[in-house]
Amino acid sequence: MIHEILPVGVLQCNCSIFGDEQSREAIVIDPGDNIDQILTALARYSLRVKAIVITHAHIDHIGGAAKLKAATGAPVYMNANDQPLYDDLEIQASWLGMEPPGRTSIDSDAREGGSLKLGNTEFQILETPGHTQGSISLWIPEENKLIAGDTLFRDSIGRTDLPGGDGRQILRSIHNKLLTLPEDAAVIPGHGPNTTIGREKERNPFLA
Ligand SMILES: [Zn+2]
Repeated sequence: MIHEILPVGVLQCNCSIFGDEQSREAIVIDPGDNIDQILTALARYSLRVKAIVITHAHIDHIGGAAKLKAATGAPVYMNANDQPLYDDLEIQASWLGMEPPGRTSIDSDAREGGSLKLGNTEFQILETPGHTQGSISLWIPEENKLIAGDTLFRDSIGRTDLPGGDGRQILRSIHNKLLTLPEDAAVIPGHGPNTTIGREKERNPFLA
C-alpha cells in the first residue's frame, strides 16, 4: 500500500494519500489545500482517485475538496453531522483571513459501521465526535493504522472551544473508540507527528 502524508495549507493539515499498487486506485483524506501538490503526488504514482474522505468540516481539512473533486471526479465522503460547519465555510475562511475556497456537494454520508475498500484493504469509519459533531476517524486493520483527524494528536487532543466542540464527548470518543485499538497501531493525526495508540495511552497528559 502506498501511503504519502502531505502537510497542506497554512495550518499544515496532514493530507493522506493511500494508493493500491495493483488497481492504481487511491483514497485521499483531508485535502485541505495545495491541490496541485496532491495531484502531482497522485500522478507520480499513476493513481486514480476513487474517493475523497473528510475527517471533519474545518476549512484546513475540507478547503480543497471542491477543487480535487473537480479535477478527479471522485465522490466526497463526510459525516452529515458536519454539514452545518461546511455550510459556514465562508465564516471559517474569514476567521483565518482567507479567500473562501469553492464549495462542493457531499456525495456520501460517512457513518459508523460504514467502510471503503482500496484493493483488499478496508477503511472502517469510526464516529468520534467531540472536536466537531461530525468528526470521524478511519481504522485500517490490514495496515494497523488509524487516521485520527483532529480527535487525537501526539501528546494532545483536539480543541473543543470552536462551534460544535464538546470536551466530554471527545474524551468519550477517544477512550471508547480509539484507545481500544491495538497498542502498536500507528496513529496519523490531523496535524503534527505520528504516534501510536500505546504511546498516547501511556503519555498523553489529556488522557490521564
Ligand atoms: Zn479541526
